[in-house]
Amino acid sequence: MIPTDPRSAALDLAGGMVASGRFRGDLADLVAHRTESQNPTQAIELMRYLTEALVPRLEAMGFTCRMHANPEPGGGPLLTATRFEAEGLPTVLGYGHGDVIHGQDDQWRDGLTPFQLTEDQGRYWGRGVADNKGQHLINLLAMEAVIATRGSLGFNAKLLFEMSEETGSRGLYAFCQANRDLLAADVLIASDGPRLQPEKPTLFMGSRGALNFDLVVDLRKGAHHSGNWGGLLADPAILLVQAIASITDARGQIRIPEWRPTSLTPEVRAALAGLPLEGEGPAIDPDWGEASLTPAERAFGWNSFAVLAMKSGVPEAPVNAISGHARATCQLRFVVGTDSGALIPALRRHLDAQGLQAVQIVMDEGIFPATRLAPDHPWVRRVAASVQRTTGAAPHILPNLAGSLPNDCFSDVLGLPTIWVPHSWRGCCQHAPDEHMPIALAQSALRVMTGLYWDIGSGKVSGMAKGETAQ
Ligand SMILES: [Zn+2]
Repeated sequence: MIPTDPRSAALDLAGGMVASGRFRGDLADLVAHRTESQNPTQAIELMRYLTEALVPRLEAMGFTCRMHANPEPGGGPLLTATRFEAEGLPTVLGYGHGDVIHGQDDQWRDGLTPFQLTEDQGRYWGRGVADNKGQHLINLLAMEAVIATRGSLGFNAKLLFEMSEETGSRGLYAFCQANRDLLAADVLIASDGPRLQPEKPTLFMGSRGALNFDLVVDLRKGAHHSGNWGGLLADPAILLVQAIASITDARGQIRIPEWRPTSLTPEVRAALAGLPLEGEGPAIDPDWGEASLTPAERAFGWNSFAVLAMKSGVPEAPVNAISGHARATCQLRFVVGTDSGALIPALRRHLDAQGLQAVQIVMDEGIFPATRLAPDHPWVRRVAASVQRTTGAAPHILPNLAGSLPNDCFSDVLGLPTIWVPHSWRGCCQHAPDEHMPIALAQSALRVMTGLYWDIGSGKVSGMAKGETAQ
């Protein structure tokens, strides 16, 4: 069957890259680069991923490439690529990260190894296939399919690749600040993270923020005999757990007023209504979290507090003594509508009001900001309409991801509407052994992205970018 219209031809060309082995071969080349950014001995490989794996591919697609040193010490190199077609066309900025977390080579199941792509059980296995090499490869191949079919993209394309995402996107914010003109665009369209369900595309327009801090009670040097000193010396573990227990109630509902968002509007609730959360992973605890909210509202529309680790004394070898020291590593994930600058002062006031002045708040990392775009933003509607045209069904639309991304670089520094079209799923074992991408998902994503780039380049866009949809 020969497709009758060029859009279908482009979709079939991209989707056919799975059956032809093209996608698998290209993904294997990317995965073979051991780009562990947490491993200082692999610094040279971070550079080679850009110069050897990406630049030749991008130049063959008509992009002009520029390598950039990271503006911050210890950060990996960056690559920008521009394919300019004409004045007056919309400009789309894309983003990807070529670094991966540790390979964890000895923990993969038999027959799998992280830096050699394996096809098995309807999945591609390898470190980075989901996070993020497979995702940016899909977008590049989709652009290639549009160029091959139409002779042009129909829009101006810019790309930004970093190699430090897994170490906190070091230097990315400063790089965007220093290169606003180079990165100027009408919209960010990029891919990372999971779909809500593997068989249906998801759009998200930002991410929750993250505030990491330690609660520390450091009362005295060493431990003291609990018989001689118990009842006389304050116990740091008891003070610490009182502090934690005052932050939420017994089902994890946040009690500090400034830690509760003001942004769960009827529009956001409507966008979140009916989104599925079950599937891969542990069963959701129905009695945990904000009681009046649905599970989707708790994950995507609200803030959540967690104790990531805590210690007092020596749990492996307890002794009869009052410890001198206790520490808990804590995290608040928060949505837009939370005053991030007010979080720590509010916690201090809250602890002081409980008489817990001995509990110190120690921050060793900055705050990861929260970002979001309204689900009814014109660019969201456009992208959703394109996805529906390709798949026949409306995508899942999240105002923001529950996890965190460096999206503030694009939304806040560059001032762009940001739309993420993820090509992974929640069971992909990203950041763990046996990372994989389902082949059916790759095929679906190649078609979705080709349709999206096709529609952006079809000429209806510039009017729509001003705020109105053509459909
Ligand atoms: Zn990651």
